[in-house]
Amino acid sequence: MPMPAERYRSVLLYGAPGVGKGTQGRILGTIPGFFHLSSGDVFRSIDVRSPDGKEVSAFMSRGELVPDDLTIRLWRRALDARIATTEYKPHEDLLILDGIPRSVGQSQLLQGHIEALGVIHLVSTDEPKMIERIRRRAIRENRADDANESVIRRRFEIYRQQTAPVIDFYDPGLIAEVDALGSPAEVLRDVLECVIPIQNRIFYGNGRQ
Ligand code: ADP
Repeated sequence: MPMPAERYRSVLLYGAPGVGKGTQGRILGTIPGFFHLSSGDVFRSIDVRSPDGKEVSAFMSRGELVPDDLTIRLWRRALDARIATTEYKPHEDLLILDGIPRSVGQSQLLQGHIEALGVIHLVSTDEPKMIERIRRRAIRENRADDANESVIRRRFEIYRQQTAPVIDFYDPGLIAEVDALGSPAEVLRDVLECVIPIQNRIFYGNGRQ
């Protein structure tokens, strides 16, 4: 596969289900200079009656990962659409990825598309609290995969098996651990402490573009 000409400068939001990646990503995405893209949101926006939509929703409803090749293809299509509409401006915005990569295979495939400048690991050891957050989200967002206890448990199992090894793929120097158990504002403060220096270095440093 030929390498795309440009690798988009990105920070990854990484962590277990319910840890707050989406909440933080959405807040960052409202700040000029950041563009947030969640793979879960990309998948949920696909028409479930289309062939891609049918395949994706079959995996999602079981709490399992959508296969790597399909994930990267659909994610890339969504990213290109945001570039075409200028919602995402690669030369001005730091790309904040949420929910992807979720396997080592995806990390490898993404290398052709992004330059990972930081990995923010939202850490929570309190699984019951995460499950409680997911339950509340089910009601708020009407998410089918959140409503069922056994699907939630399956998502944690898949996280441990397939997503936990992703952290070892990246240079330890890129990884910042943030305590996910604080209030959204406290977590945001810690996340901003990580991303502001990256943004300054890339976009506003010497030789500002
Ligand atoms: P959560 O908040 O639980 O992490 P997401 O909205 O990120 O949920 O993802 C919901 C579901 O979408 C996952 O359980 C999985 O089925 C699918 N999914 C999302 N991102 C990916 C990905 N990068 N690779 C494979 N499947 C994914």
